[in-house]
Amino acid sequence: MNNAQIVARDLNALWHPCTQMKDHEQLPLIPIRRGKGVWLEDFDGNRYIDAISSWWVNLFGHANPYISQRITRQLNELEHVILAGFSHKPVVELSEKLIAITPRGLTRCFYAENGSSAVEIALKMSFHYWKNRGKAGKIEFVNLSNSYHGETLGALSVGDVELYKHTYEPLLLKTRTVASPDYYYREPGESRRDYTARRFEEMEATLAEHGERICAVIIEPLVQCAGYMRMHDPVYLSLLRAACDRHQVHLIADECAVGFGRTGTMFACEQADVSPDFMCLAKGLTGGFLPLSAVLTTDDVFNAFYDDYESMKGFLHSHSYTGNPLACAAALGSLELFEQSDVLGQNRQLARTMEDATSHFKDHPHVADVRQCGMILAVEMVKNKHTREPYHWRERRGLTVYRHGLEHQALLRPLGNVVYFMPPYVINEQQIRHLADVAWQGIQRATRDR
Ligand SMILES: *Cc1c(COP(=O)(O)O)cnc(C)c1O
Repeated sequence: MNNAQIVARDLNALWHPCTQMKDHEQLPLIPIRRGKGVWLEDFDGNRYIDAISSWWVNLFGHANPYISQRITRQLNELEHVILAGFSHKPVVELSEKLIAITPRGLTRCFYAENGSSAVEIALKMSFHYWKNRGKAGKIEFVNLSNSYHGETLGALSVGDVELYKHTYEPLLLKTRTVASPDYYYREPGESRRDYTARRFEEMEATLAEHGERICAVIIEPLVQCAGYMRMHDPVYLSLLRAACDRHQVHLIADECAVGFGRTGTMFACEQADVSPDFMCLAKGLTGGFLPLSAVLTTDDVFNAFYDDYESMKGFLHSHSYTGNPLACAAALGSLELFEQSDVLGQNRQLARTMEDATSHFKDHPHVADVRQCGMILAVEMVKNKHTREPYHWRERRGLTVYRHGLEHQALLRPLGNVVYFMPPYVINEQQIRHLADVAWQGIQRATRDR
């Protein structure tokens, strides 16, 4: 079997995610035969460094032997069991571990299979909490501009990325959107802190004016990943936590993408020493092996639902594969790898290498910004460096970088005009330098006059 054979069969039978299928008349589809560490290998024997951790899920490399073994052991014991009325060891162990490592105050775990569902659960729980507490007038959510929380209708409603949302607008919940504290937009000479405080005024005003109607504010702490890897200062999270408390509004931290060490700390909220009322975890939760998500919440929230059945206060939400034992075993394997070595410490060295390998990028005539938060590094390509005028989306400059990467052993998948690295933690210095070289050449090609 070679690439062409499997691609022909694929294009006859599949409909791929986040893809205009007609693109594949031109754009190669890459069938992967196997993975090992940072490497993916296709059916023709070409190899690619997975610079984006396969949509940010992989932490410890493809086919990681330790996690594989953990799943195999579980597979021989119990593949799945209903989680209503029943339980099993991996889900109990995982819940205890998640409670132990997440910010204090998060004491209960509810499971689903993907990040969007986790967001739906947090939204429903928050609304239902206020209803159970006699505040049925709280029916709105506040989000930030350029935020992303998934693709199902509720999650899409609280997101703000035009590209994914626009078409479905008539179907969505109304959401109050406040300008994000994305520091790409700070004034020249303005400190991040001043800028962040200034940006927070709109949030404060919104909560002060509409708090009575608002269930929760939902935020992606520190990095809006799908929103072009835009970043903000941790102080925003501190200000937001205090304001949510003042105005009796929940704080939902969507750490689906940034959790498990991506931003340099195990969870992004730690950098502001903040505990949310709900924390959504997905993607890296299983080290990239199996679909699983979790929503962690507080005693206060849990207790608002805890009553006699007849009170009808229970949270009757479910998914068929809730708390799947194989997925929980994978998550336990991944967390054990964090315990077995100083992963975050090693990542600090890798992050410095990423910074060093891209230090010249900021001088490129079509690069407006190079920003980094831990193991996420992003490069913003623009048409005009001085005015920061972006390239028109129709030009699809990022696609040139993507194609260039594929020709040079790199899976780089830019978001619009933003080229970024978010690699598995098992990448080495030489591989980082290779990715940087390929990205630089790709940016050269992509920004040539047409
Ligand atoms: C990816 C993502 C989601 C959605 O997760 P899925 O598993 O793709 O449904 C939600 N929130 C954030 C911040 C994400 O990055």
